[in-house]
Amino acid sequence: MFIGHFGVGFAAKRVSPRVSLGTAFLAAQFLDLLWPTFLLVGLESVRIAPGATAVTPLIFDHYPISHGLAAVMGWALALGAVYALATKNARGALVVGALVVSHWLLDAIVHVPDLPLMPGAEMMVGLGLWQSKAATMAVEIPIFAAGVWLYATSTRAKDKVGNYGFIGLAAFLALIYVGNLFGEPPPSVTAIAWLGQAQWLLVAWAYWVDAHRDTSR
Ligand SMILES: [Zn+2]
Repeated sequence: MFIGHFGVGFAAKRVSPRVSLGTAFLAAQFLDLLWPTFLLVGLESVRIAPGATAVTPLIFDHYPISHGLAAVMGWALALGAVYALATKNARGALVVGALVVSHWLLDAIVHVPDLPLMPGAEMMVGLGLWQSKAATMAVEIPIFAAGVWLYATSTRAKDKVGNYGFIGLAAFLALIYVGNLFGEPPPSVTAIAWLGQAQWLLVAWAYWVDAHRDTSR
């Protein structure tokens, strides 16, 4: 899943207005922000196999540290704790932790059974919605659209950056999604990893936009 995670990040604004959109993106997409680094250092692995599913040409061979449920719980606690210490915002910390877990739950809907539960366990989870482009889009696009709408109606632009920066961010995410769905498979695992690292720029973009918007409620 891609823009669905960002949709959940946008939606978090309605639940916890003091959490920056940048932090919400960081948490909702945290597992996919860690994954490229684990790929680059060789702790996790992926294979490119065009046609593996209707949506993604990737076979997720091994990713227990970024996407194993036991590890995910640890990441959620860690990120929530760091947020709590940094901001003294207990409600925000709960939201941050929940956002981290939400990534795994949404991934479990779309991935074919490849999500590990804990190290050493045989059982893999995944409902396999990625076998159908239409079904994937039918789930993911409404989550994204609802998130964008919730963010737009929970905040108000303070200036042009807050307005056009937000519209640009949502449009850019939608564009990447179309590219992912209908574009060519990536040329190499290294390319996947570096494109994955580029997602940190989306987090920075979100912090920038959020600083130029007020909560309107
Ligand atoms: Zn993921």
